[in-house]
Amino acid sequence: MMTTTTKMTGANIIGLAFSDRNGRSLYGVNPATGERLEPAYANASPEEVERACALAAQAAGDYARRSPKDRAAFLRRIAENLEGLGDVLIERADAETALGATRLTGERARTANQLRMFADLIEEGSWVDARIDTALPDRKPLPRPDLRRMLMPIGPVLVFGASNFPLAFSVCGGDTASALAAGCPVIVKAHSAHPGTSELAGLALMQAARECDMPEGVFSLLFGPGTQLGQALARDPRICAIGFTGSLRAGRALMDTAAARPVPIPVYTEMGSVNPVVLLPGALRERGNAIAEGLVQSVTLGVGQFCTNPGVVIAEDGPLLDAFLAKAAAAMATVKPATMLYDAICRSFHEGAQQFEKTPGVDVLARSTAPVEPGKAQAPGMLFATDAKTFLATERLREEVFGPSTIVVRCSGRDEMEQVARSWTGHLTATVHGTDAELADYAALIEILRDRVGRLLFNGFPTGVEVSPAMNHGGPYPAASSVRDTSVGTAAILRFVRPICYQNAPQSVLPEELQDSNPRGIWRLVDGQLTQAAL
Ligand code: NAP
Repeated sequence: MMTTTTKMTGANIIGLAFSDRNGRSLYGVNPATGERLEPAYANASPEEVERACALAAQAAGDYARRSPKDRAAFLRRIAENLEGLGDVLIERADAETALGATRLTGERARTANQLRMFADLIEEGSWVDARIDTALPDRKPLPRPDLRRMLMPIGPVLVFGASNFPLAFSVCGGDTASALAAGCPVIVKAHSAHPGTSELAGLALMQAARECDMPEGVFSLLFGPGTQLGQALARDPRICAIGFTGSLRAGRALMDTAAARPVPIPVYTEMGSVNPVVLLPGALRERGNAIAEGLVQSVTLGVGQFCTNPGVVIAEDGPLLDAFLAKAAAAMATVKPATMLYDAICRSFHEGAQQFEKTPGVDVLARSTAPVEPGKAQAPGMLFATDAKTFLATERLREEVFGPSTIVVRCSGRDEMEQVARSWTGHLTATVHGTDAELADYAALIEILRDRVGRLLFNGFPTGVEVSPAMNHGGPYPAASSVRDTSVGTAAILRFVRPICYQNAPQSVLPEELQDSNPRGIWRLVDGQLTQAAL
């Protein structure tokens, strides 16, 4: 395993150098103790934004021309260096997020695997979706030209680190990995809740860029407030796309900024999601207790701070649901209150839960019996219940409460379940628990759900997102800004490319992927047929 520099400096990383022209004022804070963590972090100045963007723009052509083999080696080196940070990374991430060493060690493995997955993808090469329509000079009434299309890097990408995945959706996370794999330089705006973790990951990436002789500007990491630094970067004309995971408020602000630019750019924001769960009667009859336990585990996993956290459950009212709720309430009561990512996120959980509690027609069925420890940003597990009429009439009940709670909606029957399902906007996931016969019988309800989500699960729980080619982690707005894209899995690379079509281009001009001899041996669609053969 490589040894990676672990000395935190508190400076921005701009290209291959440290920079802190604007002083340092930002600190990481331990949410479990309130303790301020050294060192102080820089607040990127407009000049530093200018330099990072200029370097990224300068690096874009050079980096895009690097061979897939070289880019793959770079991604693998980042993974090695990230692992080479050893316990220092896990300890700092735990101090800044309270997520615990076990979870963070798993997340680091996922982050490294993700980088290696993209390395394999680009080395194999068929992802560029090469299409060749050979010329038909004798076609009547008009000849067809020779057309060759493939995907190419879009240019410098701005990535926002996410608070709830300090490694896997942060500096070396999925957005960065997919943008670098696509051939785009990356500027990361660090999340202010984990600056030290961000810098350590940034050091691993910077070291990899040096070791692999990548152009200066292939990567920069800047610290500062989202409303200023994030917005300034999003407005910069050299930024060509944005990847973001976080709140609807910030995600929407970035979408609006990008759309208002003289040259608008694509923004891939993953925002709020309540991830509905539907319990059908047969499933409740067969395994209500197991579902109740599984649901409470899923709701409280990682203190409920997963974007796929199941925040609402619907089921037909009656004795089966009563038994289920009794079991779920008993399980929720035993959940120990736990520390959330940072103080403000915890306050917003408590405010959201209080609003539910105060809503007429909403009952608190359970709350962790152990008390929340004073001085710690802790949240208890909470289980709410209401009826469909109250749920439909109260918009706030349909919005995300980020944290370890869920609300169960009692429906009078299938029609009301469908009505509730129709009231939902876009979500990342929906889950249905049912017997085989029921799943066929409730096809209409399942279709309503399918039209509102990016991933439809059966007889499982939505937390736990596999990183693999078939995964889709996205959904209709407001779950994500672009319903056609995913931020997890190999297809995430498609966010940071654009198609180019060469018409009647000589072989000398064409990229290898489109040349007659197919030197990379990739799969191509040639005259409508998928083939690896040369022309
Ligand atoms: P956030 O407040 O949206 O912050 C995410 C990033 O965006 C941070 O880097 C932040 O900068 C920046 N930012 C904030 N406002 C901005 C603006 N107007 N323009 C540009 N950038 C801006 O998200 P969070 O801190 O992770 O959590 C807050 C809430 O987001 C949670 O309570 C939860 O509701 C939601 N959330 C959702 C998901 C999900 O996966 N769906 C994940 C995490 C959080 P700073 O560093 O200055 O804060």
